[in-house]
Amino acid sequence: MKKRIFNVVLIILVLAGVSFGVAALRTEHSDKPKYIFYFIGDGMSFNHILGTEQYNAAKEGKSEVERLNFSKFPVRNFVTNYSTSNLVTDSAAAGTALASGVKTANASIGVDPEGNHLRTIADVASELGYAVGLVTNVGINHATPSCFYGHTADRFGFPSLIDDYIASDVAFIAGSTIMDMKSGPQDPKYKPTSTAELAERIRNAGILLTLDVEEAAKAEGKRVALVAHDKKNEHVPYVIDRKGDEVHTLVNHTKAAIEYLERNSKEGFFLMVEEGKLDYSAHEQDAVTTFHEVNELARAVDLALAFAEKHPGETLIVVTSDHETGGMSLGWDHYEIRMNLLTAQKTSTLQTTKKIQQMRKEGNRNWEEYKQVLSENLGLWSVVPVTKEEEALLRHDFYDIFLKYGPMVDGLYNKNEFLTYHAIHILNKHASIDWTSLYHTGMYTPLFVEGEGAEKFFECRDQTEIPKTIARLMGGEL
Ligand SMILES: [Zn+2]
Repeated sequence: MKKRIFNVVLIILVLAGVSFGVAALRTEHSDKPKYIFYFIGDGMSFNHILGTEQYNAAKEGKSEVERLNFSKFPVRNFVTNYSTSNLVTDSAAAGTALASGVKTANASIGVDPEGNHLRTIADVASELGYAVGLVTNVGINHATPSCFYGHTADRFGFPSLIDDYIASDVAFIAGSTIMDMKSGPQDPKYKPTSTAELAERIRNAGILLTLDVEEAAKAEGKRVALVAHDKKNEHVPYVIDRKGDEVHTLVNHTKAAIEYLERNSKEGFFLMVEEGKLDYSAHEQDAVTTFHEVNELARAVDLALAFAEKHPGETLIVVTSDHETGGMSLGWDHYEIRMNLLTAQKTSTLQTTKKIQQMRKEGNRNWEEYKQVLSENLGLWSVVPVTKEEEALLRHDFYDIFLKYGPMVDGLYNKNEFLTYHAIHILNKHASIDWTSLYHTGMYTPLFVEGEGAEKFFECRDQTEIPKTIARLMGGEL
């Protein structure tokens, strides 16, 4: 008898606890969210996030690891991301899944495997009166942002994607540049089209295309495209390589988007923000550069959190990723991670490659001076002990630079010298971090949600369910 009473009391307590937990997730109003933030860390999975948290702690000399803002959200879930082509997806198919809620073939943007055009969450938002904004720190017609307005089976059809953008309802778009036809594989069906020509196309459509962040933020009653470069297909630098005076950053562009959207919408807004450079650095297997980009994403999320504080009960913040890049692992060596060694890295692999190429061009054949660069930029020899075998490998790469210049490590977006690729590999190895791929893997991707309707995202098992859940919360359907 006593046992039965105990059980009943226990059940009541558990139920009360569960309902209290759910209530805690809900905010005062149960209405649909008026402001929706949809953050996508391109190529970001659990290890990129945890690695960043460990790296931040090492940098501050702390033994305690503090979680990033979004990894403390009440909803912390994980989803599958495979495409119809393969268990490993690309940014086009995964972007389509995140924008339209439909699985498609790799390289497809906003179309199903048969080529039929798909409705996107941006379409649903604008039909319901939300103003739509898209921000990225790569090209505005790169795969991820394109999935919210474009329709093509070829993600490298950059000019046609700009035509799709012009025809769309996207009120505010921001990014590093407009990708030209040279930035993808050359396809004879597309005429070579430069960034400047595509910029002209946008301007001719009556859209305010500007390089001025302030002008973009303050614009009224017209569509805005904000880019860092409108003449050349040039990207903003990695966060780690910043000189400190950069105006065109993911954070500044997100700030401008929020200011513009808040003023230019009555019903509320839907804002997608992509940290796209994270995928670039993970393709290069550069851990520290990747961690700096994850921190940049967290800084952009900070803006959404500050906004939510001013609009309680009206804001939904979703943070996720399209796929994992690089197969990064934390700790391969004898139960140990030595994050402190990574704090010696001062520039990206790419920046170090550029420096080395410049020295080669100047005819510099002094190994000691190359060693000096690897030491200053990556901490080799000065902080990281380099073994005899490792130095022999680097020296071999150094001779190759002069003997058979040409072959380089292709990290999809950036090419690196074998010398810097191996140097960064040595640094990561000593820190006990390793990579399994120069491309993507099929790992789970994370999903963090906070705010109005957040608890609904506990049910998501695949990334296609994320935009469908957002659409339902907005009062629409995908
Ligand atoms: Zn990628």
